[in-house]
Amino acid sequence: MKKYIIVFFFSVLTLSIWAVDKPNVVVTTTIIADITQQIAGDKITITSLVPVGGDPHLYEPIPQDAIVISKANLILKNGLTLEGWLNEFIENSGTKATRITVTEGIESIQSSTYANSPDPHAWMDAENGIIYAENIKNALVELDENNAEYYQANFEKYKEKLIEAEVFIKNLIDSIPIERRVLITSHDAFQYYGRKYGLKLESILGTSTDAEAQTSDINRLYSVIKKSGVPAIFIESTINPQTIKQIAKDTKVKIGGKLYADSLGEPESKGGTYIGMLVTNTQSIANALRGITNEASEETASKDNSSPTNWVFITIIAVLLIGGAGFMFKKMSN
Ligand SMILES: [Zn+2]
Repeated sequence: MKKYIIVFFFSVLTLSIWAVDKPNVVVTTTIIADITQQIAGDKITITSLVPVGGDPHLYEPIPQDAIVISKANLILKNGLTLEGWLNEFIENSGTKATRITVTEGIESIQSSTYANSPDPHAWMDAENGIIYAENIKNALVELDENNAEYYQANFEKYKEKLIEAEVFIKNLIDSIPIERRVLITSHDAFQYYGRKYGLKLESILGTSTDAEAQTSDINRLYSVIKKSGVPAIFIESTINPQTIKQIAKDTKVKIGGKLYADSLGEPESKGGTYIGMLVTNTQSIANALRGITNEASEETASKDNSSPTNWVFITIIAVLLIGGAGFMFKKMSN
């Protein structure tokens, strides 16, 4: 009887959890999705239009997105010209959701390629991340006042973590010899990062991925690599690495790793959260530019070396135990 009561109790509980309608927040990128998740906890349903690994510059909405947008209570976008595809799509959907630009209040960098066009990659600076988080927190409080204290408390905790990440990044970049602080990537996603942490930036494409690489851009990179003597250049998780790989081959420098720029990595990966993305990028950049790209593999190798030693040790113990047992058995049977 007791068992049936427990089952009944949990069924009612599950049904009541399902029955509670959480507010729907639709965001444009995986980066905004994670920051929102950190503050919203389990109080909000969050959907990102651009999926993990997607390119937010070139995204083409799918029919399912129209349904998602029509059910939204709040839409959070990056702005600064990132989501050129979004406005018309929102207008056509007829949604009544509040729209918030989460970069409001950030001092933007102007694109060097396009006139009057701000660089959208403001999330690359962890201090800007705090402004993202604060704007998102304010939007959530406005949307769901009953949980205002909960959102405020989560924001405070998250802000502390972002401040820690900021210090970590600064210290690690400071460990790279000054002349090697040159970051060469596929597209110009790291201007905010470079301005903040003191790296010179060079890329094949401009601030958007919406262009073809020109021979003049590639030649410019050849001369930068030669002049600076950087030991490594970098590919990005959302961009075809072919051109960067070719440049690395031609100039005999290493690929310093895959950087997360416009999307987080898969949820379980190191770059699966916003802070994880900044930290992992910085570790890859610092290791490669300091010329210790094989640090990780050396670590693995030393672990591998220790395992045969362990096996020898285990075998000796086993032989001693069996021998001892055999000796005892012999003695007892005598
Ligand atoms: Zn980008």
